[in-house]
Amino acid sequence: MKTVISLLMIPLICLWILMIIDSFSNAQFFCTFFGWHKAPKEQGFDGCSPEGTCSRCGEHVLQDSQGNWF
Ligand SMILES: [Zn+2]
Repeated sequence: MKTVISLLMIPLICLWILMIIDSFSNAQFFCTFFGWHKAPKEQGFDGCSPEGTCSRCGEHVLQDSQGNWF
């Protein structure tokens, strides 16, 4: 049973490490591959959700209800 739990933890730990790298990395790879955009420096409102320009890749992004930028 312990082996099964440790095997399940491996992908989770990998994802967690990726998220940490993402938080201080300027690699556009995270924007294009995962869609994890950075919070815009200047935020606007399009009438439905907060919007802005990703400070990493310069793409137009929107904020979802969880506070993530996509
Ligand atoms: Zn981006």
